[in-house]
Amino acid sequence: MLDERQVERLEVTAVNSAKTRQPLYTARQKVFPKRASGRFRQFKWLVMLVTLGIYYLTPWLRWDRGPYAPDQAVLLDIANRRFYFFAVEIWPQEFFYVAGLLVMAGIGLFLVTSTVGRAWCGYTCPQTVWVDLFLVVERGIEGDRNARIKLDSAPWSFAKLWKRMTKHAIWLVIAVATGGAWIFYFADAPTLLGQFVTGQAEAVAYITVGILTATTYAFGGLMREQVCTYMCPWPRIQAAMLDENSLTVTYNDWRGEPRSRHAKKAAAEGLSVGDCVDCNACVAVCPMGIDIRDGQQLECITCALCIDACDGVMDKIGKERGLISYATLADYQSNMVIATDPATQTIDPGRVRDGEGKLDKGISHFHIRRLFRPRTFVYAGAWSLVGLGLLIALLSRDRLDINVLQDRNPQYVVLSDGSIRNGYTVKLLNMVPEPRSFELSIEGLPGAVMSVVGIDQQETRSITIDAEPDKLKTVRVYVRQPRDQLSQGQGFSFVVADRAGAERDVYAAKFNVPETLR
Ligand code: SF4
Ligand code: SF4
Repeated sequence: MLDERQVERLEVTAVNSAKTRQPLYTARQKVFPKRASGRFRQFKWLVMLVTLGIYYLTPWLRWDRGPYAPDQAVLLDIANRRFYFFAVEIWPQEFFYVAGLLVMAGIGLFLVTSTVGRAWCGYTCPQTVWVDLFLVVERGIEGDRNARIKLDSAPWSFAKLWKRMTKHAIWLVIAVATGGAWIFYFADAPTLLGQFVTGQAEAVAYITVGILTATTYAFGGLMREQVCTYMCPWPRIQAAMLDENSLTVTYNDWRGEPRSRHAKKAAAEGLSVGDCVDCNACVAVCPMGIDIRDGQQLECITCALCIDACDGVMDKIGKERGLISYATLADYQSNMVIATDPATQTIDPGRVRDGEGKLDKGISHFHIRRLFRPRTFVYAGAWSLVGLGLLIALLSRDRLDINVLQDRNPQYVVLSDGSIRNGYTVKLLNMVPEPRSFELSIEGLPGAVMSVVGIDQQETRSITIDAEPDKLKTVRVYVRQPRDQLSQGQGFSFVVADRAGAERDVYAAKFNVPETLR
């Protein structure tokens, strides 16, 4: 176990310190985050691996839909106006599923923020993930924090130029791969890759890759924390979703203050000091360049790397972990009440420790039950309801649809035998990637028969129509009713049924007759 004076003190200034922050934009000061290690860093590596893996590999997954549909598992086929997601195929008129998923994502974000704060920002936001990736490259080439600071301030030399060029070249490769992966979601990935590298792809593919390469490179490599601070609206919105029971990364000054590097000397002098040894490790690892000891700040993305750094220090000096921790405002305030000396209204860390120097039993710690409260139940309930509704709609949706447009001019034709004929444009939607045979029939309208233009068959009440896979089939239909049956009503139905299955759809249509004959 180390004495607190033996803990390395890092010369770090929080470049975005809350104490010196300007209300408007200030020129960027470079942040050189030190490599962190600990359980949150490990978890972030895992999340990074999973999210990047999903993003880069998904377009290459195959899904057999038969010979009439693309075999790419996830495909946004804009040309044919289809969205494929494994076994699910969404048509344009079913876009409400996508809207429903976006609503679920929004409510999910509310739910996550009200429980675990800005976990999205700290772990899964693309900006966070790509900045992490770019930092891995930077550290690999230029070294950890001190080496990077030294290199940055060193005069230009061949070694510095070489390192910088290598770093930026790798960043650009990552940026191109990022933009490249995006376009593969919109076309068959292997085909598009071949076309792209041989210069045969559409211009829009090159433009998209160009834009995404530039934004990835600029946001992930050059602007980094500025994107979160100045460009992203989420930090501002999230404040409305947090309450006193939401988890946020918190510096527990009720046990940390007054901070001192000379605890033993202070104790010998009868002074009470907190657990913070003012080593600045938490500041050095912060990718946002802030000091969490200044309190909650909009810039904090709750990546928890300062928790890892401080836990490491606490381990070294033999104190309980959690000087910086995920904590709720309610717990923090209750601990503050215990730590505050009522006479002086200052923090006395001696008040939170028992006779053996351990944290007092009355100290509040986060408990899982805090996640279950009315607000989170409402969010979880709304999220589940939308999800359930979408699932039911998805499982019960028709893959066969009929739509009818009745001729308006003329509304009817009186034939030479006195019977009345109406014309219709019937649209049959085969939403399955296989050819299908449909039975189109009329229900109601006694005595009426129909004929379909292009199908050489006697007038009948039921006609077979073949539909191509995954296509809309449009047919012109004439319905004729003998004059002596006209008085029996004008409403009837077009019914379309799959000849090979039980699926059917009905369209309520109208049959127009001259007013004098009604
Ligand atoms: S203060 Fe801590 S949690 Fe917040 S951004 Fe910095 S390192 Fe991450
Ligand atoms: S909070 Fe922890 S990591 Fe930060 S300066 Fe204090 S002891 Fe060091």
